[in-house]
Formats: sequence, structure tokens, C-alpha cells
Amino acid sequence: MPGTLTFEALKAAVQDGSIDTVLVCFVDMQGRLMGKRFHGVNFVETSYRETHCCNYLLATDLEMATPHGYASTSWETGYGDYVMQPDLSTIRPVPWLESTAMVLCDVLDHHTHEPVPHSPRAMLKKQIARLEALGFDAMMATELEFFLFEKSLDDIRKSGFSSLEPFSGYNEDYHIFQTTKEEGVMRPIRNHLFAAGLPIENTKGEAEAGQAELNIRYSPALDCADHHSIAKHAIKEIAWQNGRAASFLPKWHHTRVGSSSHVHQSLWQQGEPAFFDPERKYGMSEVMEHYMAGLIAYSSDYTYFLAPYINSYKRFAKGTFAPTKAVWSVDNRTAGFRLCGEGTKGVRVECRIGGSDLNPYLAQTVMLAAGIKGLEDKMTLAAATTGDVYEDAKASDIPQTLRSATESLRNSGFLRECLGDDVVNHYTRAAEWEQEEFDRVVTDWEIARGFERA
Ligand code: ADP
Repeated sequence: MPGTLTFEALKAAVQDGSIDTVLVCFVDMQGRLMGKRFHGVNFVETSYRETHCCNYLLATDLEMATPHGYASTSWETGYGDYVMQPDLSTIRPVPWLESTAMVLCDVLDHHTHEPVPHSPRAMLKKQIARLEALGFDAMMATELEFFLFEKSLDDIRKSGFSSLEPFSGYNEDYHIFQTTKEEGVMRPIRNHLFAAGLPIENTKGEAEAGQAELNIRYSPALDCADHHSIAKHAIKEIAWQNGRAASFLPKWHHTRVGSSSHVHQSLWQQGEPAFFDPERKYGMSEVMEHYMAGLIAYSSDYTYFLAPYINSYKRFAKGTFAPTKAVWSVDNRTAGFRLCGEGTKGVRVECRIGGSDLNPYLAQTVMLAAGIKGLEDKMTLAAATTGDVYEDAKASDIPQTLRSATESLRNSGFLRECLGDDVVNHYTRAAEWEQEEFDRVVTDWEIARGFERA
């Protein structure tokens, strides 16, 4: 499989003219690629060491606002710089753009060159290191669900988001004929990402008109998060190149099914699956039991990181495959956590709570932290649930609104212990700001309901 480029290979490609542009990117709080487009010659001669960006980029929202209330940066402190340090092991071609390569950066403090603690990539690296100290490696896979629309992003935005016509006219779950009609967009997505070094498994139609899914083979946690952010970016960009829109908004219409990002997780020890024990029920090792117990016990604390916006919570609805209960079950899609690969070396846990809008670095960070806590405290796993978990009154609910997820985050002793107070306070502020922004807006629904009749 074609893979990433070494720095030497990039230099040679710049020299022979096959690469002239290098995208130097980092991942922001929303999981987006942000950065600059470098001329290839400048990058390989000097900027490969470091470049800089304004530090508001890790304290902003989807609109690039400058909210007050962050300790890390503000108008008062003058919004200084961060260092963007290219991680040269992530250089890869960007085959869907002409003569272009890409590199991901770590975000460092301008003065100390220490990682910025609330930078998503630094947060994930910290939990991976904690896990390694316990003797384990994490293998992860994040599924990417999204909707394809007939029109382009620009046309849809100019229409005030009123011309939202999904690409297909019917539920296309596993359909081959309908997805053949979408190959103009989906085939380049698979092939370009594969050529960029991502181990693409497949795409498929999903359970709603216009809904699609991309699956990438599981990888070490940091690679998995890198793959997710690059793939999400590519899907939007390649759809745009084809005059279509791809949207990862979890719930674009209340009558339609929402989009998720399920996260598959397993731990390994010296290349062997540490979640597998053929002698035990479901083939589930003690390590897996403790990990899952932590994952489930702290799911309310970290729900914000799986559902970071107002819209994220519109997805949690009964009977839609988007789970609302913090329990586990065996191969049952109504529970928040599903044991997959029962009795095999591929035994793993899938968290089904996260929406398509999650930041993969943050989602993996908090789930690893919860799993580590389960391992450290040797937590006990309750018995599996069965049947329709939506109807199980005894099963505890995850937070149902951004407001309640924010409170769970703010008050989480566990997250404060694992991530640090500064980081928890930072993301609590992001969550509050999102709510404040929504609360001050009068929505279309209120006007239609009350304009005449209130
Ligand atoms: P499904 O049939 O539910 O789509 P798959 O077998 O295709 O399930 O797997 C779903 C995802 O789980 C894939 O992205 C795959 O790479 C990932 N996966 C498989 N084995 C493991 C594992 N041991 N740890 C983590 N993820 C895994």
C-alpha cells in the first residue's frame, strides 16, 4: 500500500517539481485541519522545523469567534503565537489536490516549546503514554458517517440552507445500486485517501436517504485520530470538487436519522490482543472487563467530548440506533457500548454514543482515560444487558442536553485528575460558550410556532 512520505522523499519530490505545495496543519478543538499552505521549497529548506499561528485558534468556535473567559489566551494577553511543529512522520501526499503534500503539527508554547496542554493531539499523546506505562497499546477505529447532498456547499449556504436535497431519494443502507450512483464522489474518496496512506476498508450506504459511511482499518490510537481528521477533511473537499456537499452535522433534520462516529477500541500487549482470553465468557479478558467498566462508569463525565454542540443532542433519540443508555451488551445496537468480535482475537468494545461531529483526538483521549481508570482501580463490570435497551428503565442515561453534559464535565473529579484542571476548565468554557451562543438566538421554530398564535 502506498504510504506516507519520508522527509527525504518529500525533498526529492520538491526538487523534481512533482510537489510544489505543502499543507502545514494542526487539529483544532473542533477536529478541523487549520494551518498554512507553504511553497514546497520553503518548507523543505526552513519551515519544516517550525512555523507559527495565533493562539486564539485553540480558543475559538466553529465561527472563529474570540470568546472571553479562557485562561490560556484573551484580548488582555494580546492573543500571541503558538509554535506549530511539523511531525515529520505524518508527511503524506494529498492526491486529490495538484502537486500537494501535507504534514500534521504538534502545537507548542511559543516560549517554552512545551506541548500546549489543551491541544487535542497533545491530550491524546498524554493518555497513550499513560497506557504505555501500564504496558499496553491502544488500537482504535472511528467510523465516519455523513450525508451527501445534491447541491454544492456554496449553493446551499447562499440559499440560506433551504435547498437541502439529499443525494439519494431513499434509505440506502447497504444498497449497491444507489451507491453506484454516488461513485463519482465516493470512489475518489476511497482511492485518494488510500493513496495518501490511509488503510481504507470500505464505504457503504447508510440507513437514510443520502447517508454514507467510510470505514478505515483500526490503527494505533494517534494514527487513527490523524486518519479521521484527514478523511473528514478529504470527504468535504472531494465532494466540493464534484459540486456536491458532504455534511457531518449529526442531525440535519428532525425527521431524518442522525450521523454517528462509533469508536472501536482494543488494547494490545507486545502485539497480542490483551482483550482476548479464550477461557472466559465472550472471550473477554479481565483487562477488557476493567477497561469497559471504567468506560461505562465515567461515560456521563465525558459525554461532552462525544457530543460537543447543541445539535449533537438532537441525535439521541429512541429507535434510531443512536444510544442513550450507559450500559453494554453483546452485538446489540441499542446500548451505548457493544461488545464486538465475541470469542475471537478481534474482541473489542464499540462506543456508539459519539456523533459525526466529535473530535477524534478528544473522544479517544477521554475514553482511554476512563479505560485506564478502570484498569488502575480494577473496576467491576456489571452483567451485559439484553433486548431493547431504550426501554430499560434501570439503565442509566447519558446526559441528554449540552447543558447537562457541561455540568458533568465541570464537576468531573475523574477528568480533573486525568486531564488536569486547566484542560477541564478550558473545555468547560468552550461548552458554556456554545450554549450561550445558542441561547441568545431566536430560532425559526419559535417564529413559526408563535408569531401568529402566541
Ligand atoms: P462491522 O461489520 O460492524 O462494520 P467490522 O468488522 O467491519 O464491523 O469492524 C468495524 C471496525 O472495527 C473497522 O474499522 C475495523 O477496522 C475495526 N476493528 C476490527 N478489529 C478491531 C480491533 N481489534 N480493535 C479495534 N478496532 C477493530
